[in-house]
Amino acid sequence: MPELSPALKDYRNQIVNSLTPSLIRVFNNRCSQIPGIIKLTLGEPDLNTPEHIKAAAIADIQADDSHYAPQPGTPELRKAIADYLKRSLNVDYNPDNEIIVTVGATGALNAVLKGILNPGDKVLVPTPTWSMYFQLIKMNGAIPVQINTAEDGFVLTPEHLQEVLNNEGKGAKAILLTDPSNPTGRAYPAEILKGLAKVIEENDMFAISDEIYGELIYGDTVHHSLSQYIPGNTILVSGVSKAYAMTGWRLGYVAAPSEVMEIIRKVNNFLITAVTGNVQAAAIEALNNGQNDPIEARKIYQERLNLMKTGLEKLGFQMAAPQGAFYIFAKIPDKFGQDDEKFANELSEKGKVGATPGSYFGKGGQGYVRMSYASSTEQLKEALKRIEQFIKSI
Ligand code: PMP
Repeated sequence: MPELSPALKDYRNQIVNSLTPSLIRVFNNRCSQIPGIIKLTLGEPDLNTPEHIKAAAIADIQADDSHYAPQPGTPELRKAIADYLKRSLNVDYNPDNEIIVTVGATGALNAVLKGILNPGDKVLVPTPTWSMYFQLIKMNGAIPVQINTAEDGFVLTPEHLQEVLNNEGKGAKAILLTDPSNPTGRAYPAEILKGLAKVIEENDMFAISDEIYGELIYGDTVHHSLSQYIPGNTILVSGVSKAYAMTGWRLGYVAAPSEVMEIIRKVNNFLITAVTGNVQAAAIEALNNGQNDPIEARKIYQERLNLMKTGLEKLGFQMAAPQGAFYIFAKIPDKFGQDDEKFANELSEKGKVGATPGSYFGKGGQGYVRMSYASSTEQLKEALKRIEQFIKSI
């Protein structure tokens, strides 16, 4: 085992060195050590990638696609993404210079943030949110400014955004909006999104719109996008990870006006050279021929959502109606106090159910726990039973 030369011990990147690991991951890892636990902690479909998508990747490997793929993504995949965006949102992006393929939505976010941010820039982040945003913004030298949306029912209002821009968010370069939201499952209605679009445009900001859960919406919820209202300000980030059960394939994309895409594309080239060819072939199949896959997934998740929501409400948990993604953000009943970390720790150790403390998702999450319903119905039923027993015992 080589030992680092003592003189090199302090030679670490200071920004990266200051970042703490994701608390969600740390909590999940701790839960993994508890025998017999049911973990509702991670944002990962339990479904497997559909057969026709796997077959497309296998065929691509058999056809000796073992060379560097084109840097921004294959023309076929960029066209499939443009067609998909046209079909689903009725927005127009030119596959030649307004779309790039990245390593997951995470890779997309990194390329975007690196491309547009200078040291000290502010990025507004409505919270509670996927906490990785905070780390990614900081890693790129900028400052996340949290906007607590708890009092807005977890849907940021235009008035609230303007108020933040008049105060601590003055001069912000961008806002990073997730719709539908992880962890709350809330989706933005068109009217609110239009109002936000107006404020964003008036304040000359970028809207980084993370729509990775855009196809996982339930009931009569409709997914809208800032790209429909302010395409000139919007940088749309998405991918195939969630809707096609392809988290492990690592395939995401960015769609944006060519003038800003130029720099995002440059960063992505430096970061990754190109995404693996057979993964791109799988994504082409998903987007061109997999229209039914998210529909099937939605049916399954919708049933589980109903099961969990009804079950939790019976036990005294309250929640702002979840409309998308696969999370329930539940308010811990008052009688158990508002220390979500303590509650989640005890629930995991004594109740053998892993639910992530709400405060890990930023301001507004205190007193909540996030439960993912991307687990089998049997597991969810068992989890509800255990939560009931746990609650009775305290
Ligand atoms: N954005 C949000 C809001 C997420 O919840 C996640 C996954 N937890 C991602 C992006 C990451 O997506 P990918 O796996 O494609 O990198």
